[in-house]
Amino acid sequence: MIKPARIFSEVIKHLFIKPATSGYPFEKAKIMPNFRGRIDFDSPKCIGCQMCVKVCPSKAIEIRLAAIQPPAPAQVEGQPVVAAKRKFDCFMHLDHCVYCAQCVETCPKDALIMTQDFELAHTSRAALTRHYK
Ligand code: SF4
Ligand code: SF4
Repeated sequence: MIKPARIFSEVIKHLFIKPATSGYPFEKAKIMPNFRGRIDFDSPKCIGCQMCVKVCPSKAIEIRLAAIQPPAPAQVEGQPVVAAKRKFDCFMHLDHCVYCAQCVETCPKDALIMTQDFELAHTSRAALTRHYK
């Protein structure tokens, strides 16, 4: 049986010891450089190849064709006509994502970026689907 005097001395001792746990959320969290957080999307780089969608183990990412920009008219006769450019949007389902970074490593155009953003909790499930344009 633990003696009350022993308990009291432990309590007094711990009043003056620095806490061993992190002070988050009252203090800023220390994030490691290789931390895997929310995925970001750089739309102009995306070519719509769907490689990221194929490798995602949790079906967390969708790439949809958003617009087709018509080709610019040739300025000088004889120059090749610039092809139509397709623009893609990304829908990221944060509630499905397991932050494995497979999509980031697979993207041939570096259009997906892993951020260190981890404060993603929300009371609305709809808010966990991010639409990147
Ligand atoms: S990090 Fe992993 S789970 Fe999340 S979207 Fe990319 S491939 Fe899918
Ligand atoms: S792998 Fe990259 S380029 Fe291909 S659809 Fe995904 S984000 Fe776009």
